[in-house]
Amino acid sequence: MKTSKRVLVTGGAGFIGSHLCERLLKDNCDVLCVDNYFTGSKDNIAGIMGEPRLEVMRHDVTFPLYVEVDEIYNLACPASPVHYQFDPVQTTKTSVHGAINMLGLAKRVRARILQASTSEVYGDPEIHPQVESYWGNTNPIGPRACYDEGKRCAETLFFDYWRQHQLEIKVARIFNTYGPRMHPNDGRVVSNFIVQSLRGAPVTIYGKGTQTRSFCYVDDLVEGLVRLMRSPPEVTGPINLGNPGELTMIQLAEKIIALTNSKSELVFHPLPQDDPTQREPDITLARNELDWTPSVTVDDGLKKTIAYFDQILSANNISD
Ligand code: NAD
Ligand code: UDP
Ligand code: UDP
Repeated sequence: MKTSKRVLVTGGAGFIGSHLCERLLKDNCDVLCVDNYFTGSKDNIAGIMGEPRLEVMRHDVTFPLYVEVDEIYNLACPASPVHYQFDPVQTTKTSVHGAINMLGLAKRVRARILQASTSEVYGDPEIHPQVESYWGNTNPIGPRACYDEGKRCAETLFFDYWRQHQLEIKVARIFNTYGPRMHPNDGRVVSNFIVQSLRGAPVTIYGKGTQTRSFCYVDDLVEGLVRLMRSPPEVTGPINLGNPGELTMIQLAEKIIALTNSKSELVFHPLPQDDPTQREPDITLARNELDWTPSVTVDDGLKKTIAYFDQILSANNISD
C-alpha cells in the first residue's frame, strides 16, 4: 500500500509556512504543522484547518520534539527585524537550539531536512548581486546579529550534520519574500507601505530610501522550496531563492502608492543600524540545479498582496 509522505513544517502557522503547508496538502502529503504562535497565527491556517491530512501542534522548537516524519522544512523563526529584535536571545535560541533539535530529529528518523536560511547571512554585502560562494559581511555584535549570526550558525550545524552524520540536508537562502498573510503590523517594508498607502497615512522611508531589495512573491518561493526538497541528494545548497531585479525603497513606495491610488506622501525616518544598503540574488544555481525561476512580476504580486490587505483592513478594522 502506498503511504503518503509525512512532512513536518516548523513555523507552519507563519506567513511562508502557511502557504507551504497548503501546497504540501495539495500534493497529498501528511502535514504536521508545528508552531509556538510567536509571530504566526491560527488565522493563517484557518483555510486548511479541516483537512484530514493536516495535524497542528503547539510547540517551541527550542525544546526537543519526538515525532516520526520523512521530511522536515525548518522555518520556525521570526523574520521581521521588529519581531526578531523584540527578544533577541530567544531569536538566537530558536535558530540554534531549534536547528540542533530538528537535526537531531532528522538524524534519528533519517528524514531529509531543509533549512530556511536567509540573504541576511550576506549582511551588508560587498559583492553584488550576491552569489552563494560569497561569505558575507555581518556584524556579530549588532542588533541584527541575533538573526544573522543565528542563521549562519544554523547553516554551520546543517553542514556539520551532513559531514558528520551523512544527513540529507538542503539549505535555502531566501531573499525578501512578500504576499498575502504577512502580518499587517510586522514592520516589514511591503506590509508597512501597503497598509500606510491604503490608509492614506504617510509612507515611512528609513534613511534616504536609496537602499535596495529584491522582492519575491510567496508562491514562487514555495515552489523553489519544494523543488529544493525534492532535488537529488547531492544538491545540498546553500542556494539562493529570490526574484532578481532591484528596487530602491523610494521606487517601491512610489509603486505601491500608484497601485493603491493613494494620496500618501513620503516621510523620512532614521535608518536602523546595520541596515544593508543593497541586496539582489544571483539565482544561476537555482536555475541550473532546480530549473526554478520566479514567474510572478512585482506588479502582479503587489496587486494580489494589496487586495489581501485591503480585505483584512476593512474586515478587522486593524488599528496602528
Ligand atoms: P513569520 O514570522 O511569519 O513565520 C515564522 C513562524 O515561526 C511563525 O509562525 C512563528 O510563530 C514561528 N516560530 C517562531 N519561533 C518559534 C519557535 N521557537 N518554535 C516554533 N515556532 C516558532 O516569518 P516568515 O516570513 O514566514 O519566515 C519563515 C522563515 O523564512 C523564517 O525562518 C525566516 O527566517 C525565513 N525567511 C523569510 C524571509 C521573508 O522575506 N519572509 C526571508 C528570508 C528568510
Ligand atoms: N532530538 C529531538 N528529537 C529527536 C531526536 C533528538 O528533539 O527525535 C534533540 C535532542 O534533544 C538532542 C538534539 O536533538 O539534544 C540533538 O540530537 P543528536 O542526536 O544529534 O545529539 P545528542 O542527543 O547526542 O546531543
Ligand atoms: N524600510 C523602510 N520603511 C519601513 C520598513 C522598512 O524604508 O517602513 C526599509 C528598511 O530600512 C530596509 C528595507 O526597507 O532597508 C527592507 O526592510 P524589511 O524590514 O522589510 O527587511 P530587511 O531589512 O530584513 O530586508
